[in-house]
Amino acid sequence: LDLAVSQEITCKIVIIGDSGVGKTSVIRRFANNEFSFDVATTLGQDFRSRLLKVGSNTCRLQMWDTAGAERFRSISSVYFRGVNGAIIAYDITNNNSFNNVKEWMGNFDQLVDAGVPKLLIGNKCDLKTERKIEKAEGEKLAKASNMLFGETSAKDNINIEHVFMKLVENMIDME
Ligand code: GDP
Ligand code: MG
Repeated sequence: LDLAVSQEITCKIVIIGDSGVGKTSVIRRFANNEFSFDVATTLGQDFRSRLLKVGSNTCRLQMWDTAGAERFRSISSVYFRGVNGAIIAYDITNNNSFNNVKEWMGNFDQLVDAGVPKLLIGNKCDLKTERKIEKAEGEKLAKASNMLFGETSAKDNINIEHVFMKLVENMIDME
């Protein structure tokens, strides 16, 4: 009889970045393995969760979505409260979204402890012919800012699982 009780811990992840880069789609892909070109925006903050096995423990990963507030630069500080990890997203076909990454990082760093792991993702990597940002540019920015990095496609389910797991591993190491 094994009396050991495995623990369930809750981890909070936020995702930020310009409107349209695919933040909601990335969360939907990871949480529910679904994708749609027609992403309805409900204003307000919303999260989805998924249970993950981490060693003998169970981690309930809560992924908070800006739900459109980023369009008005009005993400409330409540969004960042108690956060364990962050994803900053850009779209590899959109220069502006990449140029704005630094601004998003700045917002985050004002509100969150410097030790919280961060992951930079270049999403929509399925759109090969429309690419504007080389992978090496994303890698370079991530390295300079001490962030994890990966290119992803929520549409074709490329690298989504892998980047989330890398972030969670870094979060667990922090505990
Ligand atoms: P958000 O505003 O950052 O939350 O972005 P959404 O998740 O609403 O996505 C914006 C649009 O980009 C939607 O039409 C999505 O279907 C589309 N989209 C999201 N991720 C991808 C992707 O990886 N590849 C492609 N081709 N389209 C994507
Ligand atoms: Mg969204």
